[in-house]
Amino acid sequence: MQKYSIFSLIRNAIDYHTGWERAWRSPQPQPEYDVVIVGGGGHGLAAAYYLAKEHGITRVAVLERGWIGGGNTGRNTTIIRANYLQDESTALYGHALKLWDGLSQELNYNVMYSRRGVLTLAHTEHELKEFSRRHHANRLNGVALEFLTPAQCQAFCPILNISPASRYPVLGGSLQREAGTARHDAVAWGYARAADARGVDIVQNCEVTGFRIANGRIEGVETSLGYIRARKVACVAAGHSSVLAAMAGLRLPIESHPLQALVSEPVKPVLHTVTMSNAVHVYVSQSDKGELVVGAGIDAFNSYAQRGALRIIEEQAAALVELYPIFSRLRMMRSWAGIVDICPDASPLITKTPVGGLYFNCGWGTGGFKATPGSGHVFAHTIAEDEPHPIAAPFRLDRFASGALIDENLAAAVAH
Ligand SMILES: Cc1cc2nc3c(=O)[nH]c(=O)nc-3n(C[C@H](O)[C@H](O)[C@H](O)COP(=O)(O)OP(=O)(O)OC[C@H]3O[C@@H](n4cnc5c(N)ncnc54)[C@H](O)[C@@H]3O)c2cc1C
Repeated sequence: MQKYSIFSLIRNAIDYHTGWERAWRSPQPQPEYDVVIVGGGGHGLAAAYYLAKEHGITRVAVLERGWIGGGNTGRNTTIIRANYLQDESTALYGHALKLWDGLSQELNYNVMYSRRGVLTLAHTEHELKEFSRRHHANRLNGVALEFLTPAQCQAFCPILNISPASRYPVLGGSLQREAGTARHDAVAWGYARAADARGVDIVQNCEVTGFRIANGRIEGVETSLGYIRARKVACVAAGHSSVLAAMAGLRLPIESHPLQALVSEPVKPVLHTVTMSNAVHVYVSQSDKGELVVGAGIDAFNSYAQRGALRIIEEQAAALVELYPIFSRLRMMRSWAGIVDICPDASPLITKTPVGGLYFNCGWGTGGFKATPGSGHVFAHTIAEDEPHPIAAPFRLDRFASGALIDENLAAAVAH
């Protein structure tokens, strides 16, 4: 192992880190690829990595119009859990949870996956009944959830306010201990480096502006860097999925909404878990830097503006202080939004389309970060085999015609 003295660290800081290896190349796009992936978020990069690793398909480009991880991947509150209601979702998010476990080793990159538990709070009788239903459903699928009384909630999270005098007193909690968080940027960077090492071209500042389709099959993509031929094209563009679909003459059952979050100034470790509350309407964890990461619900309107708003800062700060009076003098540092893509049944699309060789992975809405490894893994299979992976099969586009919806509106909750 190379040793660094304090002098070499100072010299590196002044010398602009000379001699450091690039984590991934910055190639010009080639004229043709086997697979073009549109969107360099976590899901697109993971799909590229598994295409190369599991299916031996390495003539792959990830085209990102901005910088990798600059979309929802780098804007989310990083909560990872698998306690959804329906069997299909438990299989999908459970698959992801298994992959999270060994991901840092798999990518040789520390994604800082932390099993710190996610505690969802109930404040109404209705929520208690919903917990009971979900606990039974999850138990049948092997997902371990624990019900905690208010006193047990406070024992688990001592700074939580469980006073019966509060506006919405805590009536109980649902704890998934194996749930937690990971460092969002590191997930994008880890997959990018590992995909690049297997020959995938990651092309940033390259916007896809159109598709060439002939005889019902995809032929290539128009981009801001010119035309690129492709045997297959996979769109993983989150809030901009319907824009891309429209370019191919398709209409997706997706609405795009801003979802906002904010972080506080860093403080010493005080919150060792993630808590979520639908009634008080806030979810919060503490990052390894010490900032409190606080999330809101979606904005009611459709928009592509990735801005925070004072109204949300006020609402979230009020909700935070209601659950945690200890944070009353904490200062907020930054707020922002990401554009989330929401299907009517609050479940994603991992799907072939009526256009041959054109695939979409989207509709993850407020909760796709937790699925990143699993989503990339099953989507790579769908692209490589031109057949859905068994876990992905229920998440086809045609469920909106057949009526086989996967309703997760309750478990998707305030946002997550
Ligand atoms: C505030 C907030 C909090 C959230 N909290 C959580 C949470 O706690 N847990 C959780 O599981 N999920 C959470 N989510 C949801 C999660 O972030 C997303 O579901 C997930 O990151 C989607 O990843 P992705 O790779 O599909 O999309 P993105 O990371 O958005 O990547 C899509 C990429 O496509 C690119 N793109 C779009 N159009 C084009 C084009 N024409 N050409 C080229 N590139 C294009 C974009 O620039 C973008 O980089 C949250 C989201 C937000 C906004």
